Amino acid sequence: MFEVCVEETFAAGHALRGYKGKCENVHGHNYRIQLAVEGPELNDIGLLVDFGDVKRAVREVVGRLDHQFINDLQPFDTINPSAENLARYFYDEVRARLDERFRIRHARIYETDTAWATYRPAT
Ligand SMILES: [Zn+2]
Repeated sequence: MFEVCVEETFAAGHALRGYKGKCENVHGHNYRIQLAVEGPELNDIGLLVDFGDVKRAVREVVGRLDHQFINDLQPFDTINPSAENLARYFYDEVRARLDERFRIRHARIYETDTAWATYRPAT
């Protein structure tokens, strides 16, 4: 099995509703999104997927969030902009932009270098 991974970064603000602690206050993160594609076979030039295609899809989603207050944006005006929900959002949005023959292994959001959340669908 092969796995191809791209990462992008963005800066954004958020506040966690219903959280009892300092994260309920408006604050920001330098987020990192990691998107991994997996598959058992390579194409005829030895690629699982073109890095550029995955980066383009991820950057489109990043472009919507970068330097924004995430709580103002759908769907985060109704669901909490937690790292977990952001990971699922990236998974779903990149899924919609990437050729369906590519299988996304996971989307992982880093809020800091040492704290991250991963989403992948249950199998
Ligand atoms: Zn936070």
